[in-house]
Amino acid sequence: MIRITTFAGKPVAVFGLGASGIATAKALIEGGADVIASDDNAASLAAAADAGIPTADLKETNWARFAALVVAPGLPLTHPEPHWAVRQAKLAGMDVIGDLELFVRERRQQSFDVPLIAITGTNGKSTTTALIGHLLKEAGRDVQVGGNIGTAMLSLEPFAPGRHYVLECSSYQIDLAPSLDATVGVLLNITPDHLDRHGTIENYAAIKARLPAGSKGAVVGIDDSYCRAIAEELVSGAGKKPEKLIRLSTRADAKSEIGVDGSRIVTSQGNSTAEVADLDGIGSLRGLHNAENACAAAAALMLLPEPVSVQEIARGMKTFPGLAHRMEQLGRQGRTLFVNDSKATNADSAEKALTSYPGDIYWILGGKPKTGGIASLAPHFSRVAKAYLIGEASDAFAQTLDGKVPFERCETLDKAVAAAARDAAKSGGNEPVVLLSPACASFDQYRNFEVRGDAFRALVAKLPGFAPATGGAS
Ligand code: ADP
Repeated sequence: MIRITTFAGKPVAVFGLGASGIATAKALIEGGADVIASDDNAASLAAAADAGIPTADLKETNWARFAALVVAPGLPLTHPEPHWAVRQAKLAGMDVIGDLELFVRERRQQSFDVPLIAITGTNGKSTTTALIGHLLKEAGRDVQVGGNIGTAMLSLEPFAPGRHYVLECSSYQIDLAPSLDATVGVLLNITPDHLDRHGTIENYAAIKARLPAGSKGAVVGIDDSYCRAIAEELVSGAGKKPEKLIRLSTRADAKSEIGVDGSRIVTSQGNSTAEVADLDGIGSLRGLHNAENACAAAAALMLLPEPVSVQEIARGMKTFPGLAHRMEQLGRQGRTLFVNDSKATNADSAEKALTSYPGDIYWILGGKPKTGGIASLAPHFSRVAKAYLIGEASDAFAQTLDGKVPFERCETLDKAVAAAARDAAKSGGNEPVVLLSPACASFDQYRNFEVRGDAFRALVAKLPGFAPATGGAS
């Protein structure tokens, strides 16, 4: 745990007692703060009390007595309207902050030379965070990975000289961290998301922009118009800016300091280019979207005060195991590769998977459909040998596929896996791919996408002669 000593001896209100809220309350208490925690949900309140955290109903409290309100990232700050606790605290004129702000204040107080790499973006945050963590570890560095991925950031191991922190940051967490000052800040991309919480895309982009602006070194993807504008502002604007900026693009025609050339990650300076790594054959980093994530990870490590060498980066990429449920290569039955992309809960994500394999795809899809369905994926239907439909979306998807892609209604995942494995085994191709990339939420048949992906993994593991994948390459 990272003990938060910046509020030692002071009363602090903590609101929102999920996993990160409880970790925050404990870190403050351990650091000597006088914490009163609360939550609108009685069960969460009881769980916190059971964990030894002092709790109270703050509806009737005198807010002026607190030094700060520390809130969980889920709590609305502005949209659709401020949560009542936020409104009360602001009326009383106090700071409303989150765990990331506590982290960076403590880091400044204790030891500023603990490298902090903070990652944000609409898509690819978890993959990039995990990859950076992996590359650092493989390079022999002491590394802690957490935040919006895995371990709550204040539950990570305490600061120690040379210990690197790699934190995935949601826009909510950045919004609650006004003095965020990472060693390296990575902003991958921005597309409309979470607008219910941020009001407009402009607000959402302005929050994300604070991460690279406050960092010493920054990596900014410039393949969308919002991030391009942010990068321009960081180069020639009047506001806060990093000392070093690496712009990242996966497009051949863009002016960027890091990008892709075929399967290679290359840096550019003037007219000269240099290879950083070759992603060819690295199964966990297939697809242009993962090339973007790999470029971001490489650039971030090159910006560290003690940079990771290009050789170490190239070597580390080869053993990246990837993340579960995101184009996760489970293994093979004969020539057939089985891929779990259960995290693809919408058409945009499924598109990333479909375009990552050249063809001969046996595509399992369906679930609880999203607005727009899969019509936008029509340009990629030629890669699909056959589709296997499950769940509520079956009727709608059958209509979209009709006459374009052969399909079979399977209703449930077990029947879909059996049918897809059977058909793929008959393919004459080199690498038929059975791909679960549902383009749908899972809630009609599963509790969440993880449970759906785990069910797929278990079914595939039972196929006769199935050989599980090992490591990142395949
Ligand atoms: P996040 O943590 O931002 O949700 P993940 O790394 O978990 O991102 O990836 C989630 C999904 O987003 C992936 O399954 C893939 O479909 C898509 N994705 C991953 N990286 C990118 C990227 N760089 N650009 C666009 N989409 C991406």
